[in-house]
Amino acid sequence: MKLFGTNGIRGVVNELFTTEFASQIGLTLATYTNGGLIVVAQDPRTSSGFIKHSIIAGLISGGCDVYNLHMVPTPALQYGVKHYGADAGIMVTASHNPPEYNGAKVISKDGTELSRTEEERFENIFFSKDFRRVSWKDFGTLTSIDNAPKVYIDAILKHVDVAAIRKKHFTVLLDCSNGAASCTTPYLLDKLGCRVISLNAHPDGLFPAHPSEPKRDNLKETLEIAKAISPDLTIAHDGDADRAIFIDDKTNYLFGDQIAALVTREKLKEKKGTVVTAINSSQAIEDVVREGQGTLVLTKVSPIEMARKLKEVRGIIAPEETGGIIFPEHQYCRDGGMTIAYVLGILAKSEKSLSELIDELPRYYIIKDSIKTKNKEELERRFREELHKIEGIERIIDIDGVRVYLKDGNFLVRKSGTEDIVRIFAESRSRERASEIFQMVKGMVERMIESSG
Ligand code: MG
Repeated sequence: MKLFGTNGIRGVVNELFTTEFASQIGLTLATYTNGGLIVVAQDPRTSSGFIKHSIIAGLISGGCDVYNLHMVPTPALQYGVKHYGADAGIMVTASHNPPEYNGAKVISKDGTELSRTEEERFENIFFSKDFRRVSWKDFGTLTSIDNAPKVYIDAILKHVDVAAIRKKHFTVLLDCSNGAASCTTPYLLDKLGCRVISLNAHPDGLFPAHPSEPKRDNLKETLEIAKAISPDLTIAHDGDADRAIFIDDKTNYLFGDQIAALVTREKLKEKKGTVVTAINSSQAIEDVVREGQGTLVLTKVSPIEMARKLKEVRGIIAPEETGGIIFPEHQYCRDGGMTIAYVLGILAKSEKSLSELIDELPRYYIIKDSIKTKNKEELERRFREELHKIEGIERIIDIDGVRVYLKDGNFLVRKSGTEDIVRIFAESRSRERASEIFQMVKGMVERMIESSG
């Protein structure tokens, strides 16, 4: 049986995530670390408090000492694991999922999420129920830590030219999406000398302004406000702030891939090295890496695999199409706050606006969609078999789904890790060609579904 999905442990509150379930997660981690020091934190979801406290109850009864960092972004908790010398961490969050969901991300001693092998060890303990339970005199202690946001912000500031950014007095419209970023990003921007206009910067687990996924449709109001006040840039976070999405000075919503390409290009100017990204990233990343004489390594679509691969190859950056970027000089996890500081650093250095910088990058038209199917494994397998029917294939990469490169574009067909769908992605430098490739691939997939009844 599996406990972990692609994003830690997730489920609906009081269905999967009950107090009993949460306290057993705590007991499992106490057993896993043999009663170590654990840091815990939470996002603002209405259920995060009771889940966190149930986890803490399990940890203490299993003999762990616990540092409660209260409400901080996921990357701040991950930084805290290293900073406070803990044996592990737990973040109570369901990131961008709807408010009825919650989840737990279990963090290793090194600040990264558990590898699949570590997850299996954790699952074995959880399902065996063979927990470490200590005697009355060996219970752990609970300590309240109030400076975690400051520790995290100070850590980010070490990696950017604060004086250069401060000189620019950037005007930033910031949408915290009522999430955990409310506790850190406004203060980070203030330290960077920005004039901050903040929206939805009070933590609220009902997410009253818009859903906590910062996609364009959810940011209509934010875009309207940006148009009215013309800031240098607009930023929106997801619920737990491991990601940041940008809107440029001309109020163009930028896709994660565009900021990823900009950051990657800049990193390669600082230092030649290896860039790690997932198989569903835009070819723009590959182009930028080639131009910057770097090396590209592709992984499966998994932030955990990206972080671990980046560490293994000692790479210089790992950008992802969702707007989550890993900066290894800071820590090995996606970090929305660090991404913001780094982008401001690029703006401060370049004398150009964000829209001008984006215009310099390779431009691709991307179309994404998904198709429902009851048998996604079979569909992906059959799609591979029928690839020979497509003319002009130059290259195929099949580490996670099938990414196929043609002369003037490329596509990816990949089964989802969590839902009964197959995802289709097509891109080209021409809008028409991207659409043509997309229709061809979608047609093939639909015919396969029909013919299998
Ligand atoms: Mg997130």
